[in-house]
Amino acid sequence: MSSLSGRIFLDSEQALVPGVVHWDGKGQIERIERDPQAQTGPVILPGFIDEHIHGIGGLDTMDREPGRFDAMSRALARHGVTGFLATTLTAPLEDLRRIIEESRSIALGPLSGARLWGLHLEGPFIDPIFKGAQPANAIAAPLVTSAQYLMGDNRDQWVRLITMAPNMPGAGLVIEWMRQHGVAVNLGHSSATFDEGKKGVLAGADGLTHFFNAMSPLNHREPGLVGLGLTEPRLWCELIADGIHIRPEMLAYVFHTMAERVLLITDAMAAADMPDGDYQLGGSPVTVSHGAARLNDGTLAGSVLTLDQALRNLLRWGIPLPAIVSALSGNSARRLGLLDRGAIASGMRADLVVLDNAYNVEATYCEGRPIFDARPILHNGQ
Ligand SMILES: [Zn+2]
Repeated sequence: MSSLSGRIFLDSEQALVPGVVHWDGKGQIERIERDPQAQTGPVILPGFIDEHIHGIGGLDTMDREPGRFDAMSRALARHGVTGFLATTLTAPLEDLRRIIEESRSIALGPLSGARLWGLHLEGPFIDPIFKGAQPANAIAAPLVTSAQYLMGDNRDQWVRLITMAPNMPGAGLVIEWMRQHGVAVNLGHSSATFDEGKKGVLAGADGLTHFFNAMSPLNHREPGLVGLGLTEPRLWCELIADGIHIRPEMLAYVFHTMAERVLLITDAMAAADMPDGDYQLGGSPVTVSHGAARLNDGTLAGSVLTLDQALRNLLRWGIPLPAIVSALSGNSARRLGLLDRGAIASGMRADLVVLDNAYNVEATYCEGRPIFDARPILHNGQ
């Protein structure tokens, strides 16, 4: 039995409430007691979940370094993340297949930081017109045979999410195949019209990858994928809240109108948590300066954002804390079918982030186990 005291973000109240959260030896929350004396304690939020992250700390999902997933999981724990989907880039099918198989075998053993829930394949079935920083020469036509080659029957649902362009010939059949094999589908990297996007939704897609970025923009007669995201209640919308990918005013608009469908992600690449300088993404040189990662032609190449920084940014831009917490945790857990994650309530897993008054991460717990701790004295016999 372990516990933490502080201002706890209670799911039932959607507010910070002074109290103590207790969990059992299996990392399941048993009960939450109210305690006015905890008013001076730290902020305690549910662990953050990032469904779209390529790398951090100099490492990338596409590397061949065998220890990279463990190192990434530890680096993410420093930023309050308790669960993530390692995200691949567009690459030759045989390279992607190797990464799927290799990461699946690594995941059989527990990682020392945030929990790796599986993979998000960003590509290769995307639209060259909106490739962003994805390598053009490896973009593949959407074929069911290619999907089968990549992931077999995906019986263990190791591949949990794929980003696809719905406007490429054959995409509808591949979206249906993905849904039948336990893979959620995000539309993205696509010049699809509103109607082409709608067909993707009817085939089973239920999300948009980095909403607004690398997709057909909003026009009042041809609303594109941006218009679809604004109006289609079935779509989860990933947002990168670094202030570079989307203007803060647009982020505020989205939170104001559709907060229940927002998923905060980072789309971070290897340079996250690293100094400015020269890096690589998918074999292309990337320069990082002033918080932006760009190819030589100026195209944004992922981000160097972390989710705790996204939280601080959004608070500064006036977004209410409950909406941010849902977009960092609860919405992402629901989207991925992680039914006992994403909220602090009895019966849920003790995935917890401890933050100071300025919302800097002091400690992170995954299933009740400390995976990061920067506090000078451990609390409550932990
Ligand atoms: Zn990405």
